This record gives sequence, C-alpha cells and structure tokens, in this order.
Amino acid sequence: MKVCPNNALQPALVEAGLEGLWTPTLAPRIGYCEPSCVLCSEVCPTGAIWQITPKEKGWVVGVGGQSQSIRLGTAFYDRGRCLPWAMATECIVCEEWCPVSPKAIYVQEAQVIDAQGNTKTLKQPRVDPSRCVGCGACEFACPLQDRPAVYVTSIGESRSPDSQILLNRK
Ligand code: SF4
Ligand code: SF4
Repeated sequence: MKVCPNNALQPALVEAGLEGLWTPTLAPRIGYCEPSCVLCSEVCPTGAIWQITPKEKGWVVGVGGQSQSIRLGTAFYDRGRCLPWAMATECIVCEEWCPVSPKAIYVQEAQVIDAQGNTKTLKQPRVDPSRCVGCGACEFACPLQDRPAVYVTSIGESRSPDSQILLNRK
C-alpha cells in the first residue's frame, strides 16, 4: 500500500471476513492502477501479489501486448446514473481517461430527448470487455458524487478462472 504512487491500494475491513482484515484492495475511487507501475508486485513479501514486469503487465503501448495483458477486472456502466445515458447531458470523461490503446471505452452517437423536449445528439459510452484491464481510471475520474456511473468489479481478472463474466455451468 505504501509504495503505490496513486494511493490505489487500501486496507480491506471486513469485506473478506476477519481473516481478510487489512488485506490490500484496489479502491479506484481513491486511486487507479497506474499502467506503467509494478511496484506493489516488487515489494510484496509473500507473493500474494505476483511479481510482474511492466512488459508482463502489458498496459503501455509498446511494452507488452494487449492480448496478453494482466487484467484486474472489468468496468461496467450504471446507465441510470451516467450523464449521457440518464440525463441527456454531455460527458466523455471516462473515455478520455481510459489509458489502454485502443481504448476499452468507446462512444456511440445517439439522439436523446431532454427534459424540455429538445432533441440532442450525444456520445454515449460503452465498455469493450476484451480491451478493459480493470485499471479503474474511468471509475476514479467519473465526476458524479457518491457512487460513480462506471465502476470496476473483479470479474474478468487474469488470476481466477472462476471470476469471469459469464457463468460457467457445466
Ligand atoms: S465519466 Fe461518468 S457520467 Fe461521464 S460519461 Fe463516463 S460514466 Fe458517464
Ligand atoms: S477500467 Fe476503465 S479506464 Fe481502465 S481499461 Fe477498463 S474501461 Fe478503461
């Protein structure tokens, strides 16, 4: 937690039960995972965070490959809160902050009707889960107070085959 330049790692309270007390967790509302940084993996004394290189992390253009990127999770939109989806208001802050290339957030133009009955053309954001690495920059940057309109969960992460987007009911 101490070496994270973005203050993104915060101690868990009881989310993971008593045995998980003080376990570091990524808190994107406080800070996101810096694409070029692997400091936490270098100092972890137990291997709970695997030691990786920036190339293995693969989040920076020209350093590693997007298809082999380490993923922390996936971002999702809350369309009931997102300004262009819910309030006919322009906003592409999350798309601008998405650090991967090509960006995991893409926008599509849509015509919406505002509260006064005016038709407006807006850009509405979406996530491409095949590109999202779960860095949390979109959640960090979303300007909404309290709950953000885009948030990251751990599904889709690299380390757990069980924590994937679609249920695997064999
Ligand atoms: S930054 Fe927040 S409100 Fe703005 S488009 Fe993205 S999710 Fe919606
Ligand atoms: S978590 Fe958000 S900012 Fe990071 S790669 Fe995914 S969509 Fe982009």
